[in-house]
Amino acid sequence: MANCLVCAAATVETFLDLGATALANKFPTAQDLRQPEARCPLRVGFCHGCGHVQLVDRVPPEAMFTDYLYVSSASDTLRTHFDDLAATLTARHGLADGGLVIDIGCNDASLLCCFRDRGARTLGVDPAENLAEYSRDTGIERYRGFFGADTAGEIADRWGRAALITATNTFPHIPDLRGFVAGLDTALAPGGAFVLEAHYLVDLLDQLAFDTVYHEHVSYWALGPMMRLFEDHGMEVVRAERLPIHHGQLRVTVMRRGEGEVDAGVAEVLAAERELGIDRFSTWNTFSERVGRLRTEVMDCLNGLKAAGRRLAGYGAPAKGSTLLEFFGAGPDLLDFIADRSPLKQGRYTPGSHIPIVAPERLLEEPAPDHVLLLAWNFEEEILAQQAEFRRRGGKFILPVPEVRIV
Ligand SMILES: [Zn+2]
Repeated sequence: MANCLVCAAATVETFLDLGATALANKFPTAQDLRQPEARCPLRVGFCHGCGHVQLVDRVPPEAMFTDYLYVSSASDTLRTHFDDLAATLTARHGLADGGLVIDIGCNDASLLCCFRDRGARTLGVDPAENLAEYSRDTGIERYRGFFGADTAGEIADRWGRAALITATNTFPHIPDLRGFVAGLDTALAPGGAFVLEAHYLVDLLDQLAFDTVYHEHVSYWALGPMMRLFEDHGMEVVRAERLPIHHGQLRVTVMRRGEGEVDAGVAEVLAAERELGIDRFSTWNTFSERVGRLRTEVMDCLNGLKAAGRRLAGYGAPAKGSTLLEFFGAGPDLLDFIADRSPLKQGRYTPGSHIPIVAPERLLEEPAPDHVLLLAWNFEEEILAQQAEFRRRGGKFILPVPEVRIV
């Protein structure tokens, strides 16, 4: 058994094995395809000690985050979400008069721009070298590096201590949780709060969202193990809220123990988790069996359409799509191309499965695909609206998760 990220015990047992896959955000160029691609085992385990669901095999963060092709502002839904989040937190934590907000994994600074526009002082922390240009464009200051016990001291010395630290979709990336929480204690001002948003294990289970699994996500968070992590380090969860974005996220507010009042929602979320049995190994074994059946169902659908002479393509090249394509074994012989709005990905290939990525306009060019597999299924509404013309001309989308659905 592997060692647990939260409780450190050697009690992590594998329940889902997705095989050896390429890194989900490393989109190779045509030139890269001439070299062998690195592959690493992708297995998910459950800790019998604390219930934390996590990867069993871990890739060094430097290999994944220093050159990063995911850009937050590519999504309209996400931009609106960040604006709402900044409005809520500016009011809740009184930041309008220049309080310091640090965003960990700030990406292109979309969230920090929303805070700045409301009067806060801002600092982004991110290891990605290729995203540093966004500092020039946005004027938002940036510390290039990983957040941890040592770098937090450097940040606090240079910029002061923060009234608020945020991490949206980055908390599941942290392998050294002990160092991260120690860093929070260093960088937060007295009475300051840490607010994280992450994909939520309950939604992952409900939606059979196995494609949330890739090497970057070392943790799949439920509230129970998260409370234990912070309690072990002198902090506590004071608020827990479920959000609909990305088909289900958890927003959690953490403060030093005794500095904030614990909201009743925390106990409610925890009780709901126990009710669902996410703290039992058998629940995860059943999940794994369902994932195997879904693979058969999706591939039978795609192979059937292909055999009937239909042209197939994919839409969206998110990291989750990389997992799905590789685990299902769908390659360029099945899908002619993948359309994606991000110019950084166009002209490249999907990791591992090597399907060419093109601009969405390709969906309307002849020969147009008949059916398009929607890999970014968590943005269904936004993408169907953008692709209304393709559908008006008779094109269909295939939703692969949690069950096959053609729209
Ligand atoms: Zn554990």
